[in-house]
Amino acid sequence: AEQITLTFPDGAKKQVDAGTNALAIAKDISNSLAKNAVAATLNGTAIDLTAPIKQDGKITIVTKKDDLGLAVLRNTGAFLLAAAVHQSFPSYHLGEGKAQADGFFYDTDNPANGENQIAVTDLPALEKEMNAAVKDDDKIERVMMAKDELAKHFADDPYKSALVKAQAGVQIPVYKLGDFIDFGYGPLLPDTKLLKHFSLLSVAGAYWQGKSSNPMLQRIYGTAFFSAEELEEDAKRRADIKERDHRTIGRELDLFFVDPEVGAGLAYWMPKGATIRRTIERYIIDKEIANGYQHVYTPILANLNLYKQSGHWDHYKDDMFPPMDMGDGEMLELRPMNCPSHIQIYKHHIRSYRELPIRIAELGMMHRYEKSGALSGLQRVREMTLNDGHTFVAPDQIQDEFKKILTLMMDVYADFDITNYSFRLSYRDPKNTAKYFDDDAMWNKSQAMLKGAMDDLGLDYYEAEGEAAFYGPKLDVQTKTALGNDETLSTIQLDFMMPEKFHLTYVGDDGEEHRPVMIHRGIVSTMERFIAYLTEIYKGAFPTWLSPIQAEIIPVNNEMHLDYANEIKKRLLKEGVRVEVDDRNEKMGYKIRESQTQKIPYTLVVGDEEVKDSSVSVRKYGHDKAESQDLEMFIDAIVADIKNYSRT
Ligand code: ATP
Ligand code: ZN
Repeated sequence: AEQITLTFPDGAKKQVDAGTNALAIAKDISNSLAKNAVAATLNGTAIDLTAPIKQDGKITIVTKKDDLGLAVLRNTGAFLLAAAVHQSFPSYHLGEGKAQADGFFYDTDNPANGENQIAVTDLPALEKEMNAAVKDDDKIERVMMAKDELAKHFADDPYKSALVKAQAGVQIPVYKLGDFIDFGYGPLLPDTKLLKHFSLLSVAGAYWQGKSSNPMLQRIYGTAFFSAEELEEDAKRRADIKERDHRTIGRELDLFFVDPEVGAGLAYWMPKGATIRRTIERYIIDKEIANGYQHVYTPILANLNLYKQSGHWDHYKDDMFPPMDMGDGEMLELRPMNCPSHIQIYKHHIRSYRELPIRIAELGMMHRYEKSGALSGLQRVREMTLNDGHTFVAPDQIQDEFKKILTLMMDVYADFDITNYSFRLSYRDPKNTAKYFDDDAMWNKSQAMLKGAMDDLGLDYYEAEGEAAFYGPKLDVQTKTALGNDETLSTIQLDFMMPEKFHLTYVGDDGEEHRPVMIHRGIVSTMERFIAYLTEIYKGAFPTWLSPIQAEIIPVNNEMHLDYANEIKKRLLKEGVRVEVDDRNEKMGYKIRESQTQKIPYTLVVGDEEVKDSSVSVRKYGHDKAESQDLEMFIDAIVADIKNYSRT
């Protein structure tokens, strides 16, 4: 037979018959390599273990330990899932399916009734079907099939037909399991026995090929690993994410809701959520006033001309709600940002260099027309209230003010016990400068200035092109959501553009007019995003100072101990503690458990003993033991707790 030469990663060469496959080559090296082999690469391209190799090249055996190995396993998982769907729902159409970062998916569609799709309740049966194949170690056969024959095979399935059409070449490698045929994967495992540790997770609608103008298919998600331990670990991780999800906690603790029927991305704050929000609003306003900010109120509506002058209409229109035509020539616009409003405040008086920096702040409500697919609980909404502030400085005050804002920010983070964050310097995208305010010198100067300030402070940061605002570069403070996504909380942005556009001036010590520089900054972000974030990091167990209910008093017996409970309530209310008495006719154990599920920081049980010595039996959230404490001492402790923003 014809011979070919294969080169291994270590440089060793080997002559083999043309048409030999990677599995045979692995076996030749060692049995254990063959056992761990899941695929191969030939000259950098992934190939199946059973694919005949016909040309010289560099070969690598891909094993279970490689990232690519995991992808092969998961592609095989997707394939096996599709086979199971085909078996159980023979009339259903199949879209695409494949491995992804944390598992695999397959798109399906019931052509007879779009409302009646595969549901979560169908997943156990599909898993069983897949498991049967694994147990029998069914072989997955790789064969070449003529494109027109494949097209004929899928003639009844519009999605598969489109995928066949998109294939290059006349002979297409397909995979067979029994009479099920599929194609379009990278390499798959030659048999199913390695697919022991998989699970199907969820279903969700997904547009065909990701385009919202296409029909919606039903996507089935699953995951697979090479070991039971890894699968178990992953299940734990997913459970933790679920447990932290602010949408779930928001429902359980009755904090807020968003109802797409009433308005997608428009949040309703229930009393408890509103309490958390009000506490944060008061906190940040006080903090800012102590740091030299002047708080104002400005309208959420303004004449569209304001946003034409600011540049928003040119550069930010896609994110704005359409203007309201008032019929008499007036066009009103919902503001997407507060900057133009604060500029009006600045412009209302003649400003002197002696007043600078002027720091205007507001909990400013704004509206942005976010894509419906991007909306997520409170984390991304269409109406939001930003802890906004604009400081107007002389050019030589930029560095100093920047540092002051950073210090304020880190100070606030410490109070909220936020420790996991990183700094991102966000520049404009040099390849798409049309998106931004057009002034190269301004961009270069201000980007260098931000970088210089960060270097001066000795802080770590990374640089990201294309993340700037249209009017200038920024420093973003990046945190991670429970889902592991990067998200901006705070931001500090330099702006030489808007002062220009609005002809802002101050009178210098020379008596002449000068142009101030504007710094946009948000410390705790929007109330919406910040509370979504806090809910996730605290898992709903808010520190006492933020908790909607800080103490819950439970009388052992309503008849005998309710008076004392109410007396304590009165005392605590006087100290500004948010407290409730649970006087329902329920069992004490039940009330205590409920106080725990509501994650109330302090549960106070009062009975004979407590009435007798003016004490309380205190159970802190998350502790299983209660502790008896003198009432006055308890009051001092909870008041200190609130004052110090401590986490119990
Ligand atoms: P993103 O990149 O997250 O869309 P952005 O860069 O457009 O935000 P800015 O204009 O800097 O945001 O707005 C200030 C802050 O408001 C952001 O840092 C972010 O924390 C918050 N924010 C922005 N958009 C939303 C939204 N749709 N829902 C809730 N909060 C938001
Ligand atoms: Zn601004």
